[in-house]
Amino acid sequence: MKEIQMVDLKGQYKKIQTLINNSIEEVINSTAFINGPEVKSFQNNLEKYLDAKHVIPCGNGTDALQISIMSLNLKPGDEIITPDFTFIATAEVIAFLGLKPVFVDVEPGSFNISPGSIKKSLSTKTKAIVPVHLFGQCANMDEIHNIAKENNLFVIEDTAQALGAEYFFSNGLKSKAGTIGDIGTTSFFPSKNLGAYGDGGAIITNNDDLAKKIRYIGNHGMETKYYHDSIGVNSRLDSIQAAILNVKLKYLDEYNQSRQKAAAFYDKAFQNLENITIPYRDKFSTHIFHQYTLLTDPELRDPLKKYLAQNDIPSMIYYPVPLHRQKAFGSYGYDNRKFPVTESLSQRVISLPMHTELEIEQLEYIVNHVIKFFSNYK
Ligand SMILES: *Cc1c(COP(=O)(O)O)cnc(C)c1O
Repeated sequence: MKEIQMVDLKGQYKKIQTLINNSIEEVINSTAFINGPEVKSFQNNLEKYLDAKHVIPCGNGTDALQISIMSLNLKPGDEIITPDFTFIATAEVIAFLGLKPVFVDVEPGSFNISPGSIKKSLSTKTKAIVPVHLFGQCANMDEIHNIAKENNLFVIEDTAQALGAEYFFSNGLKSKAGTIGDIGTTSFFPSKNLGAYGDGGAIITNNDDLAKKIRYIGNHGMETKYYHDSIGVNSRLDSIQAAILNVKLKYLDEYNQSRQKAAAFYDKAFQNLENITIPYRDKFSTHIFHQYTLLTDPELRDPLKKYLAQNDIPSMIYYPVPLHRQKAFGSYGYDNRKFPVTESLSQRVISLPMHTELEIEQLEYIVNHVIKFFSNYK
């Protein structure tokens, strides 16, 4: 049996090696390393794939969030509501820009931002909501959209973990994750569902004015060369990464289906186990399993992780510390009691290996060990 990894980037590469190598060589031969034709063509291909009006490629998913928030013209002290249970990047850029991240609790099933908690955290300073489509499944965008509309708020979807997921609106229409709010952001970090071979990110919007602003903020605040209308940043998608992503975008749906197949295998094996809860699926979204995350009892979680490691099965805890308890956000003085779901999840979650190359033999080995571990606790 092949060694089990959390993510198998090499196995995935081997299957498209010639295409990837040729695409990289083309960029090197052209020497158009910055903003070469590959960047423009990737932008167009992703616009088509997402059915979005504008895709603006940039340096990484964190920059995508930062540039998006910069385009909203907010004032110091303005508040942005975001989930307590996510990767730090979502909230870090808010604080970095002198705005206040207002953390709210998440749903116990999907782990996504709770619309009820958003409503309780609104203030006169609230200007935007940044939902995260965590682990590959969309947040409740119908409800988030309603709250935003009633309170005149921007919505920026952090789609770093859900590129390719589909959202089904209550009116029967459907959209790709990242195209629903005013702005969507994504990351092409190598382990993401659409991963580059280095850093990369993109901003998505259907709003012409925002697209124009986002483009020049990402390019030194410059619309006309050497005339700088506002303070911007330098954040570009590398031509070589764009060439790689152009190859890989064609496989994204296939990759997401492979993840769903592995998830279905896990689900079937675990659905009747007493000590674990399999990932919850909301009706309004597909789940493309950036992570396959189980819940177990807090006192069994770390022993399970240890037992798996002893048997050469990697696992990860996403995320062990809620954002409101991170030292970096200590100055805001958040009250633990406001986040009972996140507090509980951080002690109960465990993510199993999830990638596009998992073989039946490996999946069987993993589920057999999980089952064996729990059979000792009956
Ligand atoms: C990965 C990730 C990011 C940041 O992406 P980078 O490309 O690493 O900057 C932001 N938000 C979430 C939810 C992520 O998973």
